[in-house]
Amino acid sequence: MQYIPNILFLIALAAGVGYFTINIRKIIRNIKLGHEVDASDHTSERWGNVLRIALGQSKMVVRPIPGLLHILVYVGFIIINIEVLEIIIDGIFGTHRLLSTVLPLGLYNFLIASFEILALLVLMGVILFWTRRNIQKLRRFWANEMKGWPKNDANYILYFEMVLMILFLTMNAADQQLQALGAAHYVEAGSYPVSQFIVPFLDNLSEASLIAIERGTWWLHILGILVFLNYLYFSKHLHIILAFPNVYFGKVVPKGKFKNLESVTNEVKMMMDPNADPFAAPAEGAVEAPAKFGASDVMDLSRIQLLNAYTCTECGRCTDECPANNTGKKLSPRKIMMDTRDRLEEIGKNIDQNGEFKPDGKQLLDDYITREELWACTTCNACVEACPVSIDPLSIIMDMRQYLVMEQSAAPTELNVAMTNIENNGAPWPYNQMDRLNWKDEN
Ligand code: SF4
Ligand code: SF4
Repeated sequence: MQYIPNILFLIALAAGVGYFTINIRKIIRNIKLGHEVDASDHTSERWGNVLRIALGQSKMVVRPIPGLLHILVYVGFIIINIEVLEIIIDGIFGTHRLLSTVLPLGLYNFLIASFEILALLVLMGVILFWTRRNIQKLRRFWANEMKGWPKNDANYILYFEMVLMILFLTMNAADQQLQALGAAHYVEAGSYPVSQFIVPFLDNLSEASLIAIERGTWWLHILGILVFLNYLYFSKHLHIILAFPNVYFGKVVPKGKFKNLESVTNEVKMMMDPNADPFAAPAEGAVEAPAKFGASDVMDLSRIQLLNAYTCTECGRCTDECPANNTGKKLSPRKIMMDTRDRLEEIGKNIDQNGEFKPDGKQLLDDYITREELWACTTCNACVEACPVSIDPLSIIMDMRQYLVMEQSAAPTELNVAMTNIENNGAPWPYNQMDRLNWKDEN
C-alpha cells in the first residue's frame, strides 16, 4: 500500500517519456523523407553558431525588449526544471526533498531561493508576452496565417507556464508551513523568498489540508511537466529542442549564395563553348541531371529544410521584414514554413495509416503554397537574416520556383521573355548580339 504513489509515479513517468519518444521518432522519420545533404563542413563555425545563436539567443536581442524577455523566460524555465530532477528522485524513491540531505544545506537553500526568484520572473515575463499578443495585438501575431490553432497554441503555452510556476510556488508555500508545524517527512530545508508571501493565505489550515495542498500541487506540477513535454510535438514550441540542431545545420556559406546545379552549369558551359561536342559521352565523374528539378512536394526538399519547418517558432520576424509582405503581396515567409510543416505532418499521418505513403492527390505546390506567393519573392534574404533560429524560407521558395521553371516551364510571362532573351541574345534585353555596341555610335 505504501508503495502505491511510487508505482503511480513510475507509470506516469514511463507513459510521459514513452509517448514523447514515439513522437520524436515520428519527427525523425518525417524529416528523413527529405533528401540528404552534406553538412559535414565548417564544423567549428557550426558549433560556434549553436553557442551564439541557439544558446546565447544573439538574434533575439536585435529587438531588445522581447529578446530579453524571451531569454528570461527560456533560461528561467529550463533552470527551474532542475527542480524536476529532485521531484523525479523523490517520486521514484518515496523521499522528500532528498537533495537537501545530499547537497550542503547552504547550497540547497540558495538553489531553491534562485528557483523561486526565477519562477517569479518567468511568471512576469509570460504575463507580458500574453499582453503583447492579446492586448497590444502586435501586427505579426494577428496575420492571416495566425488564425485558429497557431494563435491558440501560442496562448496555451503561456497559460501552461503560468500554471506551472504558480503550482511550484504554492507547493513551496505549503511545504514551508508543514516544516514550521514539524510535520513528519517534511525536513527543514529550502529558502523561500517568493512563496513566503503565499504562506499567509494558508495560515489557518490544518496539517492534513496543507499536506493535501502540498501533495496535490506536487503531483500537478510533475504531471503538468510531462503533459508540457508531450504537447511540444503538436506545438510550435518544439523549437525549444529543435533550435539547437537547426542552428547547427543552418547556412554557413554567405546568405546570398544560391546553390548551383552542376549538371545545368555544365550544360551552359558546353553551350558557350564553340568547340564542344553536344553528342560526346559525359566525362568521367560528371554529375548527372537529377530525375526531377526543384520541389513540388516536401519529399523533394532536403532534410535540413524539413527540420527548418519543424523548428519554426511562428514568431513572424521574417514576415515583418519581408518587403513583399510589407507591400501587400500574398507572400509570408512564415506561412511558407508553416505550410511545409503542415504538409509534412499530413504525409506523416498518411504513412501512419497505410504503413507507407499512399498518394493522396495533393502536394505542397498549389494545395498549400500558391504560385502567386512564390513569384512575389524578391529573393532579398531579409527573412533569412531576421530568423532567430537560422531558418531559410527562401531556399524552399527557390526550389519550388525551380520546379515551376524547369519542370513545368511555368514562369511568369515577364520572366519567360527575359529567359528567352538570355538564351537567344546572351542578355535579358530583346536586342540582337550584333547590336550590343550600337550605343557607342549614338553620339
Ligand atoms: S527573400 Fe523573399 S520571402 Fe524572404 S524576405 Fe525577401 S522577399 Fe520576403
Ligand atoms: S522562419 Fe524564423 S523568423 Fe520566420 S516565423 Fe519561423 S522562426 Fe520566426
